[in-house]
Amino acid sequence: MNSEEFRRHGYEVIDWIADYLEHADRFPVMSRSKPGDIKALIPDSAPEDGEPMETILEDFRRDILPGVTHWNHPRFFAYFPANNSGPSILGEMLSAGLGVNSMLWQTSPAATELEEKVCGWLAELIGLPTGFHGVIQDTASTTTLCALVCAREKATAFAVNSAGPAGLAGAGPLRVYASREAHSSVIKGAKIAGFGSENVVAVDIDENRAMDPADLDTKITADLADGLIPCCVVATVGTTGCTAIDPLATIGPVAKKHGLWLHVDAALAGNAAILPEFRWILDGAEHADSLVLNPHKWLLTNFDCSVYYVRDPDHLERTLSIHPEYLKTGRDREVNNFMDWGIPLGRRFRALKLWFVLRSYGARRLREIISGHITLAQEFAGWIDEAPAWERLAPVPMNTVCFRWKPGGMDEATLNAANQALVHRVNADGTIYLTHTKLDEIFSIRLAVGQRATQREHVVTAWETLQKMAG
Ligand code: PLP
Repeated sequence: MNSEEFRRHGYEVIDWIADYLEHADRFPVMSRSKPGDIKALIPDSAPEDGEPMETILEDFRRDILPGVTHWNHPRFFAYFPANNSGPSILGEMLSAGLGVNSMLWQTSPAATELEEKVCGWLAELIGLPTGFHGVIQDTASTTTLCALVCAREKATAFAVNSAGPAGLAGAGPLRVYASREAHSSVIKGAKIAGFGSENVVAVDIDENRAMDPADLDTKITADLADGLIPCCVVATVGTTGCTAIDPLATIGPVAKKHGLWLHVDAALAGNAAILPEFRWILDGAEHADSLVLNPHKWLLTNFDCSVYYVRDPDHLERTLSIHPEYLKTGRDREVNNFMDWGIPLGRRFRALKLWFVLRSYGARRLREIISGHITLAQEFAGWIDEAPAWERLAPVPMNTVCFRWKPGGMDEATLNAANQALVHRVNADGTIYLTHTKLDEIFSIRLAVGQRATQREHVVTAWETLQKMAG
């Protein structure tokens, strides 16, 4: 592709994206594709000779688009938000255009230094206590894995890093503590980092579905008595199921008393701490050794952009760094080489899109948007509370409402089946998209408000659609 063609198709693609973002609501939110539909449209082998971009873009529109679920649709209420925005997309395009690999400071000083700065900006915006250092990674799952590996090496004085499981020298297994509402990435990380899923201890939750610090203390003490090695606590600020907030201010001292690593998973809800009235969710963060939040969920920055804060970067580097001759530079003592702050060597220039978003919107507008989402979710919760045939199943501290349809005369098993069928019907209709969880074996519909373009009218449509489909 020569630069003239690139220019022409580039303008065309930007026009397409602009139209898409403006009118995403003309698509069914959840793709109606059946398994295999899209594969059937794609040839089995790559073309031997290049094809015109006109044909490729046409195929994109005709064959690929029907298989897309529209995460940036204003009536997307499923899972958790993964919103984007014009500034973020422009930053992403420049990052792709530069094609930088920011593994070392020297491989693009601007990428490393901008990353340090925007992580600092964000830490200030969410009111993180001083003393944390940030780095951008791909996902919260990866950062939680990093935290678990750091905790493992702290507990074993770096013996597992060098000797593998033999580094434990016959001592009992290392234990990880998280509430049973914690995200599945904790168990996945524990499997990868060699703890084993059986060594992830499910701490009890309270009536708000937040971790019970007294039970945490009891379970750690019991493990010590059994000769096991307590290693890491993962507290969740904003659980995936219903955005429950584990109380860091009381969990922190328990972790400290037993000398455990405290990792805070604030992947979604941490973004809400940019609101002064939600700063409290990070009360006690001063006890944390590490914390993650995902601007790619709720801060208008397109996937992927997960910010990992650590208190002791030297420990992180000592855990993950590897220094082959071909990666040494003359500046290594003066600068941060972010390849040592995460798992992959190669790194994208992600700071650019976050910088574009923070500058283009400004903190005030970002606060208004997040606050608007929370207000809408809470208004929806009010409608559920007032409707006799519906039941709210968990508190709504933020943007996610857990509820069910509960007409009279159905036992629990029938209610679960009826609500499951309702979710299927609603999503097949295509007007809105929402998903479910289980809270104490109760099938719960979840409505999460967090897309950039979502307004009150879209939440009203969600409520009307649910009532119509239930009827
Ligand atoms: N932690 C929490 C609380 C989440 O809600 C999620 C996603 O749902 C994750 C972690 C995983 O995020 P990621 O996709 O960035 O790994």
